[in-house]
Amino acid sequence: MATTAIERKLLVGGEWVETGSWLDVLSPYDGSLVGRVAKGGAAEAQSAVDAAARAMADPLPAHERAAILDRTAHLIDEHSEEVARTISAEAGKPMKAARVEAARAVSTFTMAAVEARKLAGDMVPMDASPAGAGKVAFTVRRPIGVVGAISPFNFPFNLVAHKVAPALAAGCAVVLKPASQTPLSALLLAELEVEAGLPAGWLNVVVGPAAEVGDVLVDDERVALLTFTGSAGVGWKLRERAARKRVNLELGNATPVIVAADADLDDVATRLAANAFSFAGQSCISVQRVYVERSAYDAFLECFLPRVEALVVGDPSADDTDVGPLISQDDRDRILEWIEEARSRGARILAGGTLDGELLRPTVVADAPPDAKVSCEEVFGPLCTVTPYDSLDDAIALANGTRYGLQAGIFTRDVKAALRAAHELEFGGVTVNEAPTFRADQMPYGGVKDSGNTREGPAYAVREMTEQRLVVLQL
Ligand code: NAP
Repeated sequence: MATTAIERKLLVGGEWVETGSWLDVLSPYDGSLVGRVAKGGAAEAQSAVDAAARAMADPLPAHERAAILDRTAHLIDEHSEEVARTISAEAGKPMKAARVEAARAVSTFTMAAVEARKLAGDMVPMDASPAGAGKVAFTVRRPIGVVGAISPFNFPFNLVAHKVAPALAAGCAVVLKPASQTPLSALLLAELEVEAGLPAGWLNVVVGPAAEVGDVLVDDERVALLTFTGSAGVGWKLRERAARKRVNLELGNATPVIVAADADLDDVATRLAANAFSFAGQSCISVQRVYVERSAYDAFLECFLPRVEALVVGDPSADDTDVGPLISQDDRDRILEWIEEARSRGARILAGGTLDGELLRPTVVADAPPDAKVSCEEVFGPLCTVTPYDSLDDAIALANGTRYGLQAGIFTRDVKAALRAAHELEFGGVTVNEAPTFRADQMPYGGVKDSGNTREGPAYAVREMTEQRLVVLQL
């Protein structure tokens, strides 16, 4: 059940703004009203960019930015239960996972505060060439300009943190457009930022029709960088349209994991059952495709299937729930169609594949053809495929058989095999003896191929959000 309905306004230029119309936020679990949010549009987005540009005209020194980020981290920690309840209510995320997200946001802000404190340029060794002799040169890191941030529904608090915290660390003001399904978490974070002492204009939050708000962020030249997390189709189109801006994309995946016969199958089964189905598979690195060495395939399934069946499906607000609802019925119906497509082409459903009330049960699919949607597109739901392989070459080729490349994993005791996989898997990150769903917030996180073009994590995002200015001194 959702928490008591909440009402939140937009944050523009330090003011909490009403617009005369409201957007209802509904629970994906039972359709109840979680809250309502003032609905903005192009006018509010334009005022927000104006406010951000005004704020940047009066820069905040690094020590003040760092102190604000640290205070925000403390406030998130103090309010962590409220944060988790808000995430759970509007995204349908089970409380177990929502509490982890709240804790991770504390870490994201803490790491960003560190980056604010150590942001510096480089010395250039000028006497390394005859042309530079007699000169001293160094770079300073300057904020790139106003940052336009667009965030998805599935980590409505911590992925907003991954945009806002490094931008503030870099000295950039932000205009944020959160996902329309989950704006309450973003506005709660904005409240905590204001309480932490962030001056007017440095963070502006505009909820409203994606294309309308997005167009302002694309068209206004003062927005120097767009940071987008969401689906590949939307992300790459934004990049095409904003040719003169830096456009950082964090997109989807169809996450593969290779399980060699020498792996600890019990441990693997436990990790994969948790990481394929937590939050109903709606993480960009949720385990989706499991490739198991043929000699261990049956033994793996014997360990894995009971763990999948044991997952608790139900109300996300309950403390023991593992798997809650999908964000929408359309998504649930789409995944049921994909299951049917695989089944009609010879796949077998080893677990799930049916509804538990309104919820899709954790589903394990065997013998899916490599070009079935469940094998190569992003399912973004509580489903994984299991497939035997005969050689590491085959396993790597199968894992790479997707347009995506965010994270992948391998379980093996063989160091050589692990290192080979790390080199040959075409992904932004490879985990060894850990599920590829693993992420700590200081890691450089991002994809190749259709999965994106950047790395998030405060240390990396801060670099993207600054420009190096060269200073040359004649001695
Ligand atoms: P989405 O539908 O692409 O939406 C993401 C954001 O883009 C939302 O704020 C959405 O606004 C906005 N948007 C949609 N159309 C737009 C347009 N024409 N112009 C500007 N903004 C627009 O993605 P989602 O369903 O929320 O999230 C799921 C996807 O995100 C999955 O593919 C997942 O893998 C990916 N993801 C990637 C990462 C990563 O770090 N790589 C992390 C999490 C999720 P509205 O809500 O108003 O439509």
